[in-house]
Amino acid sequence: MPFDPRTFLTERVQAKAAKGVHEVNRLAKELTQSGIRVVRLIQGEPDFDTPAHIKKAGIEALNNGMTHYCPVEGLDEVRQAVADKVQTELRVKYQPQNEILITEGGTLGLYLAIMALVNPGDEVLVPEITFGPYLNILGLAQGKPVFIPVERIGEGFKIHWEEIPRLKTPRTKALLLNNPNNPLGSVASEKELAGIGRIATENNLAIISDEVYEKLVFGECRHLSIASFSEELRQRTVLVNSFSKTYAMTGWRIGYIAANPDWTRAMARVYQGSARCAAPFTQMAVLAAIRSPQDCVEEMRQEYDERRKILYHGLKSIGGLIPSYPQGAFYIFADARSFGLSSWDLTLHLLREGHVVVSPGSYYGPGGEGYLRFSYATGKEEILLGIEGIKKALEKLK
Ligand code: PMP
Repeated sequence: MPFDPRTFLTERVQAKAAKGVHEVNRLAKELTQSGIRVVRLIQGEPDFDTPAHIKKAGIEALNNGMTHYCPVEGLDEVRQAVADKVQTELRVKYQPQNEILITEGGTLGLYLAIMALVNPGDEVLVPEITFGPYLNILGLAQGKPVFIPVERIGEGFKIHWEEIPRLKTPRTKALLLNNPNNPLGSVASEKELAGIGRIATENNLAIISDEVYEKLVFGECRHLSIASFSEELRQRTVLVNSFSKTYAMTGWRIGYIAANPDWTRAMARVYQGSARCAAPFTQMAVLAAIRSPQDCVEEMRQEYDERRKILYHGLKSIGGLIPSYPQGAFYIFADARSFGLSSWDLTLHLLREGHVVVSPGSYYGPGGEGYLRFSYATGKEEILLGIEGIKKALEKLK
């Protein structure tokens, strides 16, 4: 029989991924290589350098020989520091020795949670506009996303959590919550979180709570963790977090998860059989990050806040586009349905005619069709140039 590599592939890797960020980046690279200046409003990561004191701690750890395996769960002092941080900031108490894992980034935290909790065929409730990689990880676990309707109301979005009892079946295991939200740029209120918590409890659901943008909230908004609402909700929740956004450390691959001891043990088992442990020198870098003054976090937040206003007002001035009012993370999700093109075609149009790279809303689940995501994790000058490019391109469609 002739060798056909495709016949060897598992079902779990064959789920079709949405056309998204990689494809747009590839096309943008082609334009750049042909000498055109392309403005990037697509990035999902801080453009800041990792603060010097954090890098220094990582380098010192390397020089001190911290280049070997460490326990799968993470270094004891780092787990303790994370437990202290979570207790101080969120008022939730986790036992560092059996309720916290230091992970190789938030994505791995999500992967461990989903692999530990979702059997093939199990259903997971996800808003119909959501962070694209959730769907990819669910696909790998052979879990089934069940979409919760999301409605744009004015400059905000309403996730219809109250639909959960109607959507639930005997196979529904968990719900995925992202707060602050990528791509919506929203921050859940205390009332919204209390409502989600009540629904999760009444319907016996696990909550996977992705809080990687916890420090990026603006104006009157405050970040609250659903795990802090009651002991019952703390037990039902896997708190997923990362140092990627807070300290501009995306390339270091470091984050943490916190959950009840049974789930933590199960997630450690998946960890043991995959990434094995987070590099000890990166763990020492985040130990310094947690234990040092937090000025760098606030400085970056203030810069994002200024950029946020520039991008929001710029997009609002363009006829036909309805940008959401950004409250958190560093994204604006804009309704572009009035232009009558698919998200993908509109993304290509902005790239070709405006030389601006954005993400198609369709990458963020079925409810994202007709929308575009703009990132303000880039300099003000770029943002202003981007707005001009978008304006020029969209005017051509009128
Ligand atoms: N969750 C959300 C909502 C994100 O936007 C990201 C990064 N784009 C992550 C998780 C993962 O971040 P990391 O793996 O770098 O910690």
